[in-house]
Amino acid sequence: MRNLLVAGNWKMNGSGAANSALVEAVVAGRPAASSVELLVCPPFPYLAAVAAALKGSGITLGAQTVSEYDKGAYTGEVSAAMLRDIGCDAVIVGHSERRALYGETSEAVAAKFAAALAAGLLPILCVGETLTDREAGNTEAVVDEQLDAVLNTAGADGIRQAVIAYEPVWAIGTGKTASPEQAQEVHRHIRSRIAGYDAGVAAAVQILYGGSVKGDNAEGLFSMPDIDGGLIGGASLKADDFLAIAEAATRVRGS
Ligand code: PEP
Repeated sequence: MRNLLVAGNWKMNGSGAANSALVEAVVAGRPAASSVELLVCPPFPYLAAVAAALKGSGITLGAQTVSEYDKGAYTGEVSAAMLRDIGCDAVIVGHSERRALYGETSEAVAAKFAAALAAGLLPILCVGETLTDREAGNTEAVVDEQLDAVLNTAGADGIRQAVIAYEPVWAIGTGKTASPEQAQEVHRHIRSRIAGYDAGVAAAVQILYGGSVKGDNAEGLFSMPDIDGGLIGGASLKADDFLAIAEAATRVRGS
């Protein structure tokens, strides 16, 4: 049985003081269940401080994006090795905000995925369709294109060392959550697409759902057979809200 993972993406929020208070409260209130894993992704400037606060907690530290390049004249970019160096173990790649606002193509996302893996970081690969895609009946085609860019470069072996996050763009930050059944349908599709490359990897990989997950809808989502936790945006910014989601995960997969 796969563990559930509850991952918080803090995006560009907080301050030194606020983020220290947030991480301390998350550490203090984390569930004891070993089958529920927690991960937080603060903004770059706070990674080192949060790494120190997480020491010994069992909570994983992730960044929100990474350069596809190793080093050099890439002003403003941060390499995977640098993230490792300051204590990160994971990184989000291909978040829809990066794709939409910063023009990251699926090829660029695949290169970032490869850079993360090469440095020993766990990539959290985000895929998901817009409302226009969904209404046109293109959900699976869009998700396949995003997934295949990585599968065709890193292979199933790459996915073995990664986490997938299905995040319908229309559900991110909108308060509109995909129903558990809607999300499950796409999660099942993603798992079967990966199974086309390697059935063992498909069975083992954690596939998170993201998009307006809250304490009161998490249990329904996490109870679905192919949903292995959540990538949480807005509700990860308040410890109580984030911990309520972790508690929901514990109810589903406690111990
Ligand atoms: C996200 O941005 O990854 C996300 C899921 O945001 P929210 O939970 O706020 O919808």
